[in-house]
Amino acid sequence: MNISDTIIALATPAGVGAIGVIRLSGPNAIAMVNEVFKGKDLSKQEGNTLHFGRIEYQAQVLDEVLVSLFRAPKSYTKEEVVEISCHGSPYILESVIQCLVEQGARLAQPGEFTQRAFMNGAFDLAQAEAVADLIAADSKAAQRAAMHQLRGGFSKELALLREQLIHFASLIELELDFSEEDVEFADREDLQNLVLQLLEKLQPLLDSFKTGNAIKNGVATVIIGKPNAGKSTLLNALLKEDRAIVSDIAGTTRDSLEDEWLLGGVRFRLVDTAGLRETTDVIEAIGVERTNAWVKKAQLVLYVADLSQESPMSLQTVLSEYSDLEVPLILLLNKTDEVNFKSSDWVELAEYIVPISAKKQVGLDTLEQTLLDAVGIHQLNDQGTLVTNVRHYQKLLQTKETLIEVLNALRTDLSGDFVAQDLRHALYHLGEITGTISNDDLLKNIFGKFCIGK
Ligand code: GDP
Repeated sequence: MNISDTIIALATPAGVGAIGVIRLSGPNAIAMVNEVFKGKDLSKQEGNTLHFGRIEYQAQVLDEVLVSLFRAPKSYTKEEVVEISCHGSPYILESVIQCLVEQGARLAQPGEFTQRAFMNGAFDLAQAEAVADLIAADSKAAQRAAMHQLRGGFSKELALLREQLIHFASLIELELDFSEEDVEFADREDLQNLVLQLLEKLQPLLDSFKTGNAIKNGVATVIIGKPNAGKSTLLNALLKEDRAIVSDIAGTTRDSLEDEWLLGGVRFRLVDTAGLRETTDVIEAIGVERTNAWVKKAQLVLYVADLSQESPMSLQTVLSEYSDLEVPLILLLNKTDEVNFKSSDWVELAEYIVPISAKKQVGLDTLEQTLLDAVGIHQLNDQGTLVTNVRHYQKLLQTKETLIEVLNALRTDLSGDFVAQDLRHALYHLGEITGTISNDDLLKNIFGKFCIGK
């Protein structure tokens, strides 16, 4: 990557707005803007200052603007940065960019500003990725997780892990240096304990991905149950609007409906499905098939049962079909307003059971709490690190697998060579998360997903 040139891009969304901000970064950012700026001489101004003036080009005033000036290294990219706040007309913005391109600025690639910040050491790779997450955050929980990562919470934990691994690796490497003399600097049992400790620290990070991913992408929640169990009524009650069609005719909800619902700062993507039942009706059969496909993709399943139609026995048979489900299932015993039931008769049926009346809106508070519990949202409150990025998760998983190989090598008394090699791999995987180790393809892949101007 060439960081000797000066890049330019629109930093605000395309289209008409009250204002639009154009950003430049690079060694000539201030000089280039100064060429077309009529007001103070920008080259003589200090960093972190704001200046009012005009942009004039070919003897024409393009706009009256405010220029923010940042001098290296005190800027987002650690380079000279100028941000020009113009009136938000696409014509003006394009013209100002065009006249600065003619001064020698180059149009920035996607994510190039953030990539420069990374290359210039403003933050590590995991933090750079958090910038994109923060911009995309669409719920309180997603914003908090991204902010924690941006502020280096995750990186700090990784650095600690890496430090311990390096210490461990150096002991092994030292032993290799003296292999002729057949000395052991590192007691094998101590080494095994150290690996076990590292694995112990890694596991909570890996476990947090389930929640982290749910927070970042929303929780795909599917509502299933027999026709007329009350699925649509429940969905309407939760969304507090008449979104799905409610009727007494079994099988009315022929297709699936998807809705987004913010609860406790987390986005749940609710899918109401067609009734699950054996059927010869072709249209409905397609619906049932789709329902099963949704269940496979879901991160959370809500099974709505009609208490007036089911017994604990009959329900047990139905639920046994979901016994190998890998995601939490919440059993909702609906129509409590109509039926007298003893909760102790039903407790064995599922891990999460909530008696409700969808129609009378009873038990919904408990249901909301149970939903948050089932996706592990309590983790959010203890300031812990949440892994939200698939790439990070995969690298952590690879680190874990490699550490298990190290452990096996130690247990079977394999020579130090093998252990050292495995350790180098583990260090490599961890280093790739924060970018201590990086390559062009990796960077292109990460920053290419940013939009232009970031
Ligand atoms: P779906 O086929 O599972 O989507 O079921 P619907 O939501 O369409 O509800 C079927 C029927 O059950 C409707 O007449 C609802 O009014 C009724 N119903 C739903 N929930 C309750 C409830 O909690 N109590 C009672 N008494 N009736 C309910």
